[in-house]
Amino acid sequence: MIVALNNKCNLTKEEFGKYIGELTNIKSNHQLILCPTFLHVGTASEKINGRIDLGAQNVSCNTKGAHTGEVSAEQLNSFGVTYCIVGHSERRAEEKETNEEIKEKIERLFEYNITPILCIGESREEREANTYKEVITEELSVALDSLPEEQRNRVIIAYEPIWSIGTGLIPTNDQIEEVNNFIKAKYNNKVLYGGSANDNNIDELKKCSSIDGYLLGGLSLKPSNLQDFVNKL
Ligand code: PEP
Repeated sequence: MIVALNNKCNLTKEEFGKYIGELTNIKSNHQLILCPTFLHVGTASEKINGRIDLGAQNVSCNTKGAHTGEVSAEQLNSFGVTYCIVGHSERRAEEKETNEEIKEKIERLFEYNITPILCIGESREEREANTYKEVITEELSVALDSLPEEQRNRVIIAYEPIWSIGTGLIPTNDQIEEVNNFIKAKYNNKVLYGGSANDNNIDELKKCSSIDGYLLGGLSLKPSNLQDFVNKL
């Protein structure tokens, strides 16, 4: 299973130093992908020693040059980043990222052989209005359909219902299976689940046969709970 860790905008320099020491002590047969803030990518690449894969939380749509505040796929690649989250719902909401921009980010990543982790998922209103399949279809088709097949198949899709992220609300296994199977009917990709997954609910979540791994936010910051999580996987 893939276990991707989204640290979001957390951990000072000192806190990250302690955290990375604890994280590298985790014993796991699963694939761990650490996605720290850009500021900690350099330290992480020195400390993880090939035991954990290195990811990032975002990438610029642009290549290098006059793009103040941006980080390019070329720069990520030069630090050994091999995975990158794109289209996280927090960026879609706060930075107004569009499906078109997310598609461009995926194209930039493939220019440097970095595997995108594409986040998709519906809001609570979209779930209640029963339009979630349309929302997910649009997010997937704009981002993926124009890619060459070999690239398209490599993208890791993370189904993250927005109403579940950081809220402690977990969809039922039937709801997760329904969406994952809907995705897999069209796309031949790995599908992660993300949204309040933790060491308490993993016993129930892991009954979903359509889940190929997890994207963890809050839990990514707690190495001892993370150890329990991977033990139960
Ligand atoms: C996320 O933000 O990708 C996420 C899954 O967060 P959390 O696990 O905290 O719900």
